[in-house]
Amino acid sequence: MNCWHCDTELIWGGDHMFEDVGMDGEGIVTNLSCPQCEAYVEVFLDLTPVSHTGNPPPEEIDEEENL
Ligand SMILES: [Zn+2]
Repeated sequence: MNCWHCDTELIWGGDHMFEDVGMDGEGIVTNLSCPQCEAYVEVFLDLTPVSHTGNPPPEEIDEEENL
């Protein structure tokens, strides 16, 4: 992955779980830095299962299908 600003190959800084950085849900935060300029990049990969937000009742699914 190259720097957005100067197109230099970024240096991988490390991976952290969402809970390690105080975020809700499950996921990975990867941080990278550029050796050429002062750019700092964080990549957020959200791996939170959708079902954890709560499944809608079957009645609501039927209403959406009828529309
Ligand atoms: Zn750069």
